[in-house]
Amino acid sequence: MSKAKQWNGAEYGGLGYEFDPQWLLTPAQQVLQAQLIEVCATTLRPNAVDSDRNLVYPRKNFEALAALRLLGLFVPKDWGGLGEDHTCAAMVVETIARYGCPSTAMCYTMHLGATAAALFRSHHNPELQQLLQRLDAEVLIGTLSYSDPETGSHFWYPVSSRAEAVDAGWQVSKKASWTTSAGFADWYIVQTTSPEFAGNYADLSCFLIYADEVKAEPHKWDALGLRGNQSGTLLVDGVSVPRSRMVGPTGDGIASNDEIVDPFFLLCSSACWNGIALGAIDIAKQHVTRKKHVDVGMRVADYPTIQDYFGEAIIETNACRSFTFSMGKLMDDLTDHCDWSIHSDLAALPRSVYLPWYWQIKFAAAKNVAQVGDKMLHACGGSGFKKDMEIERYLRDGKAGWVMGPTNEVLRQFVGKLALLGFGALDYWNQNVNERVLHNEVKKLDVEGKRRLAAQLLAEVEQAEVVEPPLRAPAVVG
Ligand SMILES: Cc1cc2nc3c(=O)[nH]c(=O)nc-3n(C[C@H](O)[C@H](O)[C@H](O)COP(=O)(O)OP(=O)(O)OC[C@H]3O[C@@H](n4cnc5c(N)ncnc54)[C@H](O)[C@@H]3O)c2cc1C
Repeated sequence: MSKAKQWNGAEYGGLGYEFDPQWLLTPAQQVLQAQLIEVCATTLRPNAVDSDRNLVYPRKNFEALAALRLLGLFVPKDWGGLGEDHTCAAMVVETIARYGCPSTAMCYTMHLGATAAALFRSHHNPELQQLLQRLDAEVLIGTLSYSDPETGSHFWYPVSSRAEAVDAGWQVSKKASWTTSAGFADWYIVQTTSPEFAGNYADLSCFLIYADEVKAEPHKWDALGLRGNQSGTLLVDGVSVPRSRMVGPTGDGIASNDEIVDPFFLLCSSACWNGIALGAIDIAKQHVTRKKHVDVGMRVADYPTIQDYFGEAIIETNACRSFTFSMGKLMDDLTDHCDWSIHSDLAALPRSVYLPWYWQIKFAAAKNVAQVGDKMLHACGGSGFKKDMEIERYLRDGKAGWVMGPTNEVLRQFVGKLALLGFGALDYWNQNVNERVLHNEVKKLDVEGKRRLAAQLLAEVEQAEVVEPPLRAPAVVG
């Protein structure tokens, strides 16, 4: 793109387009990006300050995004949406986080994840279809409610939630410890164990729940960063919903997670962390190129140490961006640019094959944003420590990257274990026995200890056989 990047009618003071991978975007996507930067300058960025200081949920920013028809970004054109693809989604989230408001970018990430989960199983579901066609016109914000208070960041393990078949449809009980936009969203995709649940936690189902069916506690939300995000608790307290509110068939949870929720969340949240890193670089560039030290006649930007900070931050961040966008491109290739009609075949799960790659982009982006935020603060000195420069807010917002599930501790374990031991070793639902550990521990017992253990195990087996017949071992999921 030849035209200089604009900000409130003037040339942008941060990094210009020469450091952006514009060649990845179509001409229409480049136009959308420029429009979005303008809306960030006039609306999203000023509101971000208020969201951060006063814990304000960014609904006004969503109204501005809806005016650009971005709530229906993935919705097919013949349903009134933009019909855009994964690359575009990564660009939009990155742009919102970088120039506008990171809290809005994360709420929007969750909205896109929920929208994708609904589109995935909308083919024979008029309820989902009519919702998806109203997103922009009525500013209907969606979100994903998965994390369970009992299982922490293992958000795929909803032990406190369940669903039962009733005459009218389903009775849904969901207890979530964290849900972005909780109490502010208009609709929620929640995951529970399936109605026929018989002890196998891999048997999961998804439901569409509306705002008037949830209880949230926004007054309890207060956090280090992403303070507009309002990621509070959520309770769906045995609410009865019609049959059409199940998203996909019973037991579709694993397919939905592997094909949609994980790939979309990891792609868009990685773009969010990259956007925050870029936003910090932009702010710091504007400061160091202006601030002068009169004694030596130099600007801060003239010190080689500062130049090194920027060089490294730009190189590392663009490595993370390229990695993230390459996964967006792959998802586009796999699905003919996010053509939802491929999923009229319920067994079509092309994105899920590359799950370990989505884990990697999130780990890299979330690690980088913390490092870059830190170095850009150093580059700005004490001035950056004050609130008015906004870099401290970007630093705090970026800190959410590492701890948001799947956390970076979990992701590097997954990738390392997968590479060394295979998928079975990941054991999402605590079902596969680690024979090495088991035998090693038993080996430590003396004869009396072994006898006691054997007696205890036999008693447990007898009790289990009385209560219920033995379960068939569930398949290992990957
Ligand atoms: C800003 C924000 C927004 C969020 N939004 C949503 C949302 O919209 N929807 C939603 O469902 N959830 C959301 N979450 C929740 C998130 O996905 C996690 O579930 C949550 O952060 C877990 O917090 P915890 O205190 O229970 O961590 P814990 O799980 O208790 O983790 C504590 C520590 O243990 C480590 N750890 C945990 N398991 C393992 C393991 N197997 N191996 C090695 N180390 C491990 C962790 O990495 C961490 O260092 C959000 C979280 C944040 C911070």
